[in-house]
Amino acid sequence: MVLYDPATTTVHQDYGIMIPISVSRADKIINFLRQNKALVGKTKVYDFTQAASVVSMNDQCGEIITRTDLEQMHDKTFIADLYGQGLEKRLITAWELISKDGRPNRYKPERAKKPLPRLFDTVLKQVMGTYLTCRLAMQGTEWDNFCYYLGGGMHHARYDTGAGFCLLNDIVIAAQKILIETDSSLVWFIDVDAHKGCGSAELLQFAREAGKLDEEKNILNLSIHMAHGWPLDDKTISVTPSNRAPLIPCDVEILIDKDREAEYLPELKRGIRKLEELSDSRKPDLAIVVDGTDPYEHDGLLSSGLLRLSLEQCVERDLFIYEYLVRRGIPSAWLMAGGYGERAWEPTAHFLKVIHHGR
Ligand SMILES: [Zn+2]
Repeated sequence: MVLYDPATTTVHQDYGIMIPISVSRADKIINFLRQNKALVGKTKVYDFTQAASVVSMNDQCGEIITRTDLEQMHDKTFIADLYGQGLEKRLITAWELISKDGRPNRYKPERAKKPLPRLFDTVLKQVMGTYLTCRLAMQGTEWDNFCYYLGGGMHHARYDTGAGFCLLNDIVIAAQKILIETDSSLVWFIDVDAHKGCGSAELLQFAREAGKLDEEKNILNLSIHMAHGWPLDDKTISVTPSNRAPLIPCDVEILIDKDREAEYLPELKRGIRKLEELSDSRKPDLAIVVDGTDPYEHDGLLSSGLLRLSLEQCVERDLFIYEYLVRRGIPSAWLMAGGYGERAWEPTAHFLKVIHHGR
C-alpha cells in the first residue's frame, strides 16, 4: 500500500524557505507509478483522510496523534513552545533560517505565501502519517504487510529541539506509540538516509535512561550513512546533556567513506545481521525503514554529496531490505525521508515499480 496525502506535501518555498526540495517529490512518484500502471491491483493510493478512517474503523485507535504522544518522547518544555509563543523561534532553529550573525539564511520571508507557524500543521500531519503507516503495515490488509508513506522520516529532530529540517521525530514518536498501545515488544529502524539518524539515536538513549524502553519493550536503530559531513562534523554542537545527538552511537552504525559505494550493500547486509544478534533472534513486530534518497548520485543537496549511489544501487538497496523483511514476515512501514532536487523522486518510484511489476 502507498499512503499519499497531497495536503501534506511540504512546499518550503511557500514559507519563504529556499531549500532545494522539489515542488513535489511525492506527486512525481505517484505520476510515474500511474503512467507505469503500477498502482493497479495489489497497490492502492490512499489519501490521508481515507487512510485515517480505515485505521480508526478497523482498529478503534481513536484520536490519532495527541500532544501527550509528542511529550512521551520529546521534552515537555519544547512541546509547550510549539503549542505556544515559542513556535516561530523553534521553526527557525529547525530549518536554520537565521545564521549566527543574525542574517536570514536561505530564508526570504518576503516571498512567503503562508505564515511560517503554519508549517507546524504539516509537521503534525506527517507524524500522523508515519503512525498510520505503521498501523496499516501491521494490520496487513494487503500486500505483504508493506506500507510506503510518501512523507515522514524526520530523523534529525532531537529531544528538545528541531534540527536539520526536522521539527518532531515522527519515527520515534510512532514507534513508541505502537509499543504502548499494542503487545508489540520490538521495533527496528532501518535508516538508509545519507545523513546519520542522530535525533533518533538521542531520543532512544534518553528514553532508555528514563526507563521508557528496556528489554521488554525496545526499539533498535540501524543507521547507514556518510562517514563524514553534516551532522557528524557539526562543530556548533556542544556536548551537553540535552544536545549531543551526533555523538550518540546508533545501535548499529555503519559509516560509508567517500568513493566506497561498492561496499554499501555488503555493509548493509552485515548491519542487518548485527540487528538480528542484538535482538537475540527475536523477530521484530515492525520495521520502520527511513528510506532517504539523498544517497542518490543525482540528489541536489550539497551536503549529501559524499555518498553517490547510482539508481541501480539505490533500487538494489531497497529491494534487499524489502525482500528480507517479507521473507522473515516482518511488517514494514517505509518513510520517504531525505531527498532533494529535481531527481530525488527517481529511486523511490523505480523501487515501487519493481516490487509491483517484478524486475
Ligand atoms: Zn538526509
